[in-house]
Amino acid sequence: MTKKEAREIIRQRKAALGKKLIILGHHYQNDDIIEFCDYIGDSLELARKAAGIREAGTIVFCGVYFMAETASILAPEKHVFIPDPSAGCPLADMARIEDIEGAWELITCIDRDITPATYVNSSALTKAFCGRNGGIVCTSGNAEKVFRWAFKKTKKILFFPDRNLGRNTAISLEIPENSIVEWDPDRDMGGLNEETILRSKVILWKGWCPVHWPQLKPSDIKNMREKHPGVRVIVHPEVDPKTVKASDEAGSTSRILEYIRSLPPGERVAIGTEFNMVNRAATDFKETLAIMPLKKVLCEDMEKITVETLAGTLSDLKYAHEVTVADDIAQGARIALERMLRI
Ligand code: SF4
Repeated sequence: MTKKEAREIIRQRKAALGKKLIILGHHYQNDDIIEFCDYIGDSLELARKAAGIREAGTIVFCGVYFMAETASILAPEKHVFIPDPSAGCPLADMARIEDIEGAWELITCIDRDITPATYVNSSALTKAFCGRNGGIVCTSGNAEKVFRWAFKKTKKILFFPDRNLGRNTAISLEIPENSIVEWDPDRDMGGLNEETILRSKVILWKGWCPVHWPQLKPSDIKNMREKHPGVRVIVHPEVDPKTVKASDEAGSTSRILEYIRSLPPGERVAIGTEFNMVNRAATDFKETLAIMPLKKVLCEDMEKITVETLAGTLSDLKYAHEVTVADDIAQGARIALERMLRI
């Protein structure tokens, strides 16, 4: 199938299905896909959208697998499809449920005063684990709020899978450095001992997003400032704390867009996140702002969604990949997601 044919198929199927279909696109999708999306947003905004739209019983999620799973969990009565089921998330894959369960058993033998919290970039099984164990989900936009909620309940948090988001959040809540420790699932006892676990307030899982870390560094910001004096720099909190410290601001994809919208005309801003989103913002705001990527970083998994795979999905939904989550897992995951949505 050529790109031209694929685009024609998408147009025809959208017209035929009308309001019964919605196509959701994450900010990190490329422009070829965004053109056909009914809504664009971050993973949670899109999952909420999926749950909130009444007429559409069919959702095609242009993003990575955990996002489609989250939409299916929050909208269980709808059929959620993903154009390429191999579009995973290396960060989510770094927290395997058997490792989390093993860590939880060891840690709670030492201290039971702990709440598990998972970044939304995680599997349904991981979210369900949190739901079943008094825990919660967070996004990069509400991690501080979620940490505060957890600290009202218990004196400790086990946070997975993103060590950088966890550490950045702990730092912004002024948790002392020596109370933040890291659990390495590849080492015995996570590389920790009883004493370090007892004195910790935040135990971070050793996971990271390879798009944001270690690709984006303080030296990129230094070079950018030398080349463009006066440039503002905003980064995603999946970068490490040193890079956040070197920037002017850090925030989720939605916060980055809000920041851009708040700038006066004539400003120059470098953005440290996935390139497709930065490139689109540069085009959308080209009349008033000079927007550039801090560095061109792409998510290979997001790139797996193409007009060809989208056309293939829409051509015949009977043969497309529907994302389903077993009832017991969805139930546990929904508890953790709903706790987050309530705070
Ligand atoms: S950008 Fe990072 S966190 Fe997002 S889907 Fe890609 S690998 Fe996962």
